[in-house]
Amino acid sequence: MPELPEIETIRRDLERVVKGAQVLRVQAEDPLLITPAASRKLKRVAKAQTIDRLDRCGKVLIIGLSGGWSVLQRFGMTGQMYPVQAGETLPPHTRMVWHLVDGRRLVYRDARRFGQTLLVRTADLEKTLREECRLGHDVLEPQLTPIEFAAMLEGHRTPLKCFLLDQRYLAGIGNIYASEILHRARLSPLRSASSLSRKEQCTLLRMIGQVMDEAVAAQGTTISDYVTGEGATGGFQSFLRVYGREGERCRRRGCQGRIQRVVQAQRSTFYCPECQR
Ligand SMILES: [Zn+2]
Repeated sequence: MPELPEIETIRRDLERVVKGAQVLRVQAEDPLLITPAASRKLKRVAKAQTIDRLDRCGKVLIIGLSGGWSVLQRFGMTGQMYPVQAGETLPPHTRMVWHLVDGRRLVYRDARRFGQTLLVRTADLEKTLREECRLGHDVLEPQLTPIEFAAMLEGHRTPLKCFLLDQRYLAGIGNIYASEILHRARLSPLRSASSLSRKEQCTLLRMIGQVMDEAVAAQGTTISDYVTGEGATGGFQSFLRVYGREGERCRRRGCQGRIQRVVQAQRSTFYCPECQR
């Protein structure tokens, strides 16, 4: 599932290749991804408008149109978005097509269709992200201070891994990076969020920034479906220390542990019981 580094990579690629492009029309009729009312409205408001901005909040891509409307695109498990040149055939599982005046088509593909497209007035964007999408502090935004982070963790008895996945607090971390962050911070995913010492809180905050920055630099992680906004695979999968490595040796120097998999909130967590306490 694309997480923040993957969506940020797509955003940067699209910013380079479709920002400023004029939209001829948009085709989006899959009722699992967009309501029929929003689909009709999108057709109307996108016509002849320019793609002005490519933004992101957490794992949501925001396509800002001239004319005061913004499209919020969630990628679900298998979403992909990239331009297809004029004359090329559309890839399978194409669910939405932005026909551009220059002949290219910006496609949204989604094999499993867990994505979602919302249309909002740009003036209401901030409110929608906070109140409807319930997104908290974007993890790439200017980093939280240790004091703000401590306040966020306070009183949460929920396990650390689940806390990191809760988009109402930090927006952008998903299942793969949550495991990676906790391994680097040497913290057990089973610990309660409120049990961290000041020092552990600082380490965790630092590792969140570090893992996200490295993953963005590597253009994200491709385990199965994710591709960049240019249709290429990411590179961070070669740097994963725990994710998907059940039974294998811990990669921390000097640690003799083996990676374990546990299930937390119906999602797999990978960690080393030796060095993560
Ligand atoms: Zn270890």
